[in-house]
Amino acid sequence: MVKRYDAIILGGGPAGLTAGIYLGRARLKTAIIDSGSLGGQMIMTYAVANYPGVLEASGRDIAMTMKAQAKSFGCELFSNVEVTNIELSGDEKTIEVEDEGTFVAPVVIIATGGVPRTLGIPSEAEFKGRGISYCATCDGDFFTGKNVVAIGGGNTAIEESVALTKYASSVTVVHEFDHFQAHPFAVDQARNNPKVHFLMEQDIREFVGTDNLEKVIVAHKRTGEVTEIPAEGAFIFIGYVPNTDMFKGQVALNDRGEIIADESMQTDLPGVYAAGDSRVKRYRQITTAVADGSIAAMSATEYLRNRLQPASSVKNVA
Ligand SMILES: Cc1cc2nc3c(=O)[nH]c(=O)nc-3n(C[C@H](O)[C@H](O)[C@H](O)COP(=O)(O)OP(=O)(O)OC[C@H]3O[C@@H](n4cnc5c(N)ncnc54)[C@H](O)[C@@H]3O)c2cc1C
Repeated sequence: MVKRYDAIILGGGPAGLTAGIYLGRARLKTAIIDSGSLGGQMIMTYAVANYPGVLEASGRDIAMTMKAQAKSFGCELFSNVEVTNIELSGDEKTIEVEDEGTFVAPVVIIATGGVPRTLGIPSEAEFKGRGISYCATCDGDFFTGKNVVAIGGGNTAIEESVALTKYASSVTVVHEFDHFQAHPFAVDQARNNPKVHFLMEQDIREFVGTDNLEKVIVAHKRTGEVTEIPAEGAFIFIGYVPNTDMFKGQVALNDRGEIIADESMQTDLPGVYAAGDSRVKRYRQITTAVADGSIAAMSATEYLRNRLQPASSVKNVA
């Protein structure tokens, strides 16, 4: 079965759903294909307090509203499906989806997001959302007056540790090396902040607590000396993994695997756009993802306007 569309969106997080809302409103026949649950990382977010127009809501509620909105504008939604092959070069792009057939469109918007890199120790999963976070902007406020640990030594770890001092009473930076990879200016700022403390050359052994996180156990990499750090929060800043493996060799990626796109979200391939956390960008938030999604959709609409026959006027062929 070949299904023809004006646009196919890969990924139904905030970037993909927003692109769908804009394309649907432009009366373009649009499919949103997600290998997981529609909603993306928002689904994992217990409380979102920084999405304008919403005082506070669960990420799931915001995701469900975006999904209903995309559907109300005519988007066809496919979730929990396996994308087995993609071909993005040429005028017509094809996406093979197991059990659904071949999707064809002149436009593809890649909005496959990514995931924060994890330490991979069992207790990390146990306390995720119960003390462990990967986003200071999102969750810092929940730790007002509390002791927190920040894990990592790059720019994000050091800058976010200083940002966390606005809320937390103390921030202990735990790093695996004896030096930081962060910019010296950022490190100086952290060193000059009386709320920030440092523990270098440490392995994270375990996160411990009853209902919520209570302490982080670390061990010195060379001496093996074990330290228990009392902490209600632990922020893990050890990098980010974009979901872009399947686009390698098709669109231009940087050395971290993020898709390179210009300010209209255009990639190096005509008709292929990237939006949200999967592209090269500095700030990864729901607001920045929805902004990308709307820009990608408007750029795609303009691109399609120059084409002769929109798929909305062509019947699917079996
Ligand atoms: C724990 C946590 C809390 C957060 N809290 C906040 C907050 O409070 N406020 C805030 O603004 N931001 C928050 N963020 C960040 C925010 O959720 C992300 O920046 C945002 O969701 C990115 O949107 P996206 O659409 O680009 O990608 P994602 O949300 O990652 O969505 C990508 C979608 O693509 C799908 N997908 C992946 N690979 C494929 C594929 N090959 N084919 C098809 N589909 C695919 C995934 O299943 C997913 O549904 C939080 C993030 C985390 C992890």
